[in-house]
Amino acid sequence: MLRGDLTGDDLEKYVEERVVTTTLEKVLNQARAHSIFPATFGLACCAIEMMSTVSPRYDIARFGAEAFRASPRQADLLILSGRVSIKMAPVVRRIYDQMLEPKWAISMGACSSSGGMFQNYAVVQGADKFMPVDVHVPGCPPRPEALLYGFTKLQQKIMGNADPGWRSRYNAHGTEEWARGGPASQPSEEAIEAYAKAREVLGA
Ligand code: SF4
Repeated sequence: MLRGDLTGDDLEKYVEERVVTTTLEKVLNQARAHSIFPATFGLACCAIEMMSTVSPRYDIARFGAEAFRASPRQADLLILSGRVSIKMAPVVRRIYDQMLEPKWAISMGACSSSGGMFQNYAVVQGADKFMPVDVHVPGCPPRPEALLYGFTKLQQKIMGNADPGWRSRYNAHGTEEWARGGPASQPSEEAIEAYAKAREVLGA
């Protein structure tokens, strides 16, 4: 387009439709969120599901995170994929400390998030007891899709649009949002009845 081809409102409209303005911070966060290097580090059975996310079937490369790094110095995401024993916790923490900022951690599976079925003296009852965790992925094991979902949540967080989660969307506490009935959740009569019976059985 040559100077003078468009003027006035036409020129304003042309520019509005074609020029994008942003901030350096947003560009950096976009780049960070879409070029994450996870550490090649597995703890237990969940690690098998984590490994499969790089396979063609699940293809974490779609989100820019296929390059798992074998050194914490080159990684910025630690996926805690499995139970963390008391003996292993200091090692995990050291690996996390050796990663350079900015860095993130996903707790994958019931074991690393809460100890899972291993409620005993040998297993840490939740990795966030000894290191910061950004996203918890539930399941035993979580399917690769679940890990990818958690990964996209982390990306949102990095880009500054952290999702507060379903509890805030449904006005929920614990797992009882369907029976409590917030503004966005109206339980059916049957649901309320079933819930009351369940509480009777539990003596709650
Ligand atoms: S959550 Fe389940 S699959 Fe994952 S480490 Fe624990 S027992 Fe294994």
